Amino acid sequence: MIDQIRALEARARLLEPDHTTRQIWEKAIHEYSNQFLEQLDKAPAYITPNNKSPILAFEEQPKPIEQLLEFLGQDADKQGLNTSSPKHFGYIPGGGLYTTAIGDYLAAVTNRYAGLFFPSPGAVRIENQLLRWMCQMVGYPEGSLGNLTSGGSIANLEAVIVARDKAELKGADYHQAVVYLTDQVHHCVQKALRLAGMSEAIIRYIPVSARFKMRTDILSDQIEQDKESGLKPFLVVGSAGTTNTGAIDPLDEIADLAENHQLWFHVDAAYGGFFTLLERYTPQFQGIERSDSITIDPHKGLFLSYGSGAILVRDPKRLYQSNYYTASYMQDVEGAIQEYSPADLSPELTKHFRGLRMWMSIHLLGIENLKAAIEEKILLCQYFYGEIRDLGFEVGPFPELSVMIYRYVPEDVDANAFNKALVQYTRKEGRIFISTTTIDGVYWLRMAVMSFRTHLEDMQVGVEVLKEGVQHTLAHFKELA
Ligand SMILES: *Cc1c(COP(=O)(O)O)cnc(C)c1O
Repeated sequence: MIDQIRALEARARLLEPDHTTRQIWEKAIHEYSNQFLEQLDKAPAYITPNNKSPILAFEEQPKPIEQLLEFLGQDADKQGLNTSSPKHFGYIPGGGLYTTAIGDYLAAVTNRYAGLFFPSPGAVRIENQLLRWMCQMVGYPEGSLGNLTSGGSIANLEAVIVARDKAELKGADYHQAVVYLTDQVHHCVQKALRLAGMSEAIIRYIPVSARFKMRTDILSDQIEQDKESGLKPFLVVGSAGTTNTGAIDPLDEIADLAENHQLWFHVDAAYGGFFTLLERYTPQFQGIERSDSITIDPHKGLFLSYGSGAILVRDPKRLYQSNYYTASYMQDVEGAIQEYSPADLSPELTKHFRGLRMWMSIHLLGIENLKAAIEEKILLCQYFYGEIRDLGFEVGPFPELSVMIYRYVPEDVDANAFNKALVQYTRKEGRIFISTTTIDGVYWLRMAVMSFRTHLEDMQVGVEVLKEGVQHTLAHFKELA
């Protein structure tokens, strides 16, 4: 048996690369990342995927790193949407700060067990410091906390679960439980309700104003009516920066109603949350500090690479009550609680030291510079609004944050068909990437400025591509006529 163990050990030891091997790998990945970063400005924002591209087969023998990087460079990092591009204007971009990679690298190498205070007090303190910083930013009182998640969808799921548990709703009540939101809410909220087992719950879509904000007069009437009918209203979801148009709901008015009717008030600020760092823009968010929970995505508004969301809660006891656990194999941990641990406040137990990337980014880059980049995005979107309107585009509401909608309405051509063709033009052209949305049957193009890499020149390229696109598409439609 000893011989067998020794033979296996010889192979198993290869899992720990020696200093020389580490240096070879590090050099290769640094060259790769430098090359990637240095060509970003010129690289297309979108390349139509080649659906026939091969995959790299798994084999018994190890492969050299060059082969893997070559594959990534030709394939995974080449096709489709280049989310790191400064000309990525679709969905909600963030860019992916390099400092995220440094934090992730160290978190992976040291592999701290960041789920619990007992084995890793330092990691838990760092994560809780980040959460408290965000709580303070949105105006939550001392004692509030939350959980760092992988993104906004999971944060919204956690919020729905806490709201459900706070209202003490059981399965038999779900068909009477009522949730209030608008049709501008991010679709992951409806998905969260389903995942929380509540697909039977009644969703009331409260109409929106011309600026796509929740009509609180109608919300008020609807809650009254539902209560009179014996239903169980339990949750109202407001948006602080919708994905479609960047609209902020009247949070203060929603807070009044939630308070009067004892509803859980959740604010989805996945996109908009970090704009509260800018004093000049905080009045628009008034009332967010009165909510019970908030979703916020550092991988959007703080420009981190994907994999960073958060739920903030005014009263962490609520989050604890939904997520607590006991198990005999956890007995060493008990009694050591000086801080809430991520595992107490989320479904996760063993977890990546997720906060290190954000901590590194804030420290290495400085809050002042992050704030400047966030404010720059608002102004860039306003700049685009003016330019595109001058080109003859129809524009939606003036951007409150850094997202807006616009479309070109030509004479004698179906506008929806025209704008679809215009987007196809931009996809083939490739320099910029834009995404679209449909509101009340009208097809709109979206401009979302949120990548930290996006600056004035990139907006100018965007305007130029759309200008050429209109001419090209008009000519194409004339040919068809
Ligand atoms: C992006 C977004 C979400 C979803 O967050 P993910 O991080 O993509 O899971 C939810 N709500 C809003 C308003 C968003 O912009």
